[in-house]
Amino acid sequence: MTYITLDLEWNQPAPGCEVLHQLTTEIIQIGAVKMNEHFEVIDQFKADIRPRFYPEIKREVQQLTGICSQQLEQGMEFPTAAEQLHQWCGENFFLITWSHEDVPVLRKNMAVYQINSDWLPDSYDLQVIYSLQQFGKYQQTALFKAMAQLGMEPELTAHDALHDAMYTALLCQQLDMQQGLQSYDAYRKEAAKGRAIATKVIEGYTCIEDIHQDDSLRDFCCPKCGTPMKAEPWQKGKGAKRTAHAFCPNHGTFEIRLRVQPRPHNTLRARAALYCTEESTNKTQNN
Ligand SMILES: [Zn+2]
Repeated sequence: MTYITLDLEWNQPAPGCEVLHQLTTEIIQIGAVKMNEHFEVIDQFKADIRPRFYPEIKREVQQLTGICSQQLEQGMEFPTAAEQLHQWCGENFFLITWSHEDVPVLRKNMAVYQINSDWLPDSYDLQVIYSLQQFGKYQQTALFKAMAQLGMEPELTAHDALHDAMYTALLCQQLDMQQGLQSYDAYRKEAAKGRAIATKVIEGYTCIEDIHQDDSLRDFCCPKCGTPMKAEPWQKGKGAKRTAHAFCPNHGTFEIRLRVQPRPHNTLRARAALYCTEESTNKTQNN
């Protein structure tokens, strides 16, 4: 049995560019690190991928990752990279990522190319294990911040898929992974309370009152069955913060949390996020 950490970098269609095959995230780099049963690093994998659908690398992506179109011209085709990754992973491995997004994005990219992804297991989100073990509750933390919190000094640049996979592996070495993997279902249940299931962002408000009076910010469908939910009025929180309960007849109570952020030109941005409560966590896990 081996442990594999995986990280992906991806590009997105430029604004105004047509979205093809409902693919909103095209993978341009895969990095992975393999560890033995003692969490010692034994191998690594890296592939640059020549994008087929969105060859123009968005400026934000280029700034974040340092990856440019020129570099990717030397890259491999996605199906080749996916096949090599499969061969390299072998069988009987735990997959660990620093987020819950990478594996769904990888599966989606494989689906577009009609590549079978049955071999790819669900991953363990190390952010869940890290935050539950460090703070006793889920909180989203950047990989580099987590390393700093554990007193580790990153020497490699961030947002390179292999570097991030390596750092995820080094973080595993600092955590109680036996406990983390064994208790993962319980951890995840706990984390679900602190993790938004759906968000709604509306920009361009000119005053806070308009935000608080905009009932559409509380319009959410049940994430499990899609039923439009009935929301209660906002309850006052600190400053402009508000919370409200929303009900699904099948899955119980959810919570909506509202945050307000100032934006340029004296406008405001509202972000309403939907969270499970203990009741809906139990009900959505059972049916
Ligand atoms: Zn429901």
